[in-house]
Amino acid sequence: AKERGRNNFQVFSPVMDSKLKERVAIEASLRDALEKSRIEVHYQPLIDIETRRVVTLEALVRWKDPEEGYISPTRFIPIAEETGLIVPLGDFVLQRVISDMASWRKQGSVLVPVAVNVSAAQLQRASLRARIEELTRASDLSPSMLQIELTESAMFEQQDSRQDDSGTDEVSELRTLGVRVAIDDFGTGYSSLSYLKRWRVDCLKIDRSFIRDLVTDTNDHAIVAAILAMAQHLRIKVIAEGVETWSQLEALRRLGCRYAQGYLFAEPGSAARARDFLNGHRIG
Ligand code: C2E
Ligand code: CA
Ligand code: CA
Ligand code: CA
Repeated sequence: AKERGRNNFQVFSPVMDSKLKERVAIEASLRDALEKSRIEVHYQPLIDIETRRVVTLEALVRWKDPEEGYISPTRFIPIAEETGLIVPLGDFVLQRVISDMASWRKQGSVLVPVAVNVSAAQLQRASLRARIEELTRASDLSPSMLQIELTESAMFEQQDSRQDDSGTDEVSELRTLGVRVAIDDFGTGYSSLSYLKRWRVDCLKIDRSFIRDLVTDTNDHAIVAAILAMAQHLRIKVIAEGVETWSQLEALRRLGCRYAQGYLFAEPGSAARARDFLNGHRIG
């Protein structure tokens, strides 16, 4: 795969700008990384603020390059989405998550649900529901131990492309199976809130851009308060993302936010470290 990447690179490079060059290079080496098992999955806990217990683990993909070290998903996920590589990559993450859960259970840990980030293209091109059904059944895990995290735009795209005459769509089918659904980066999607009526989502994750200045910015404070009030009426759980300081946590607690995720509690870590979180460790 690397050879093929190089050839492409030479043929087209005179007319390519540097951004496109980087894209092609990343695409080729990501393909290569998938084949050579250089993709890993790390986990970050979501915490119940009151009990300090881990309620969910979020799976976050990692690409470990022998020369460059860890490459951030913010660099390669958008390219994987554009090139369609997100489908095999997403499938790899799903397989790894399910095998990690099976091995934690085998080692005697009590599982919590694991949240997996799902791109719009994964919802559209592959039958995610059938795959989740197949993989969970093979490992004797309940689909309700999985949560998918979708951005608001992914939610809308699947609505447009998948809704057929029977009114079913991928997200509804996943929920019927028992899979939990979370809206990721909530508040950044510039979308209407009508989907909250149509789909019963399980939780909203308030984007960390609203949490960062929560303590000093009265607008952010008002937005977070409004999201919490709305979600409470709709009986949807709310998770604050990117909590880094005690004062942010205190502000969230005062606003009545029950769940949080962020470096204050733990950074994403290996599957072995995630198992420590499962074994009754309280955090903070
Ligand atoms: P996300 O889903 O919003 O994930 C949260 C990101 O915030 C993660 O970055 C996490 O490491 C980081 N984070 C957690 N706590 C804090 C904090 O307190 N402060 C700050 N500054 N950051 C914090 P990461 O792992 O680099 O992932 C970036 C994005 O890449 C994710 O954002 C998600 O959109 C995407 N992504 C990651 N893994 C996957 C995957 O398996 N599939 C898909 N489709 N997308 C993925
Ligand atoms: Ca996420
Ligand atoms: Ca997020
Ligand atoms: Ca994000």
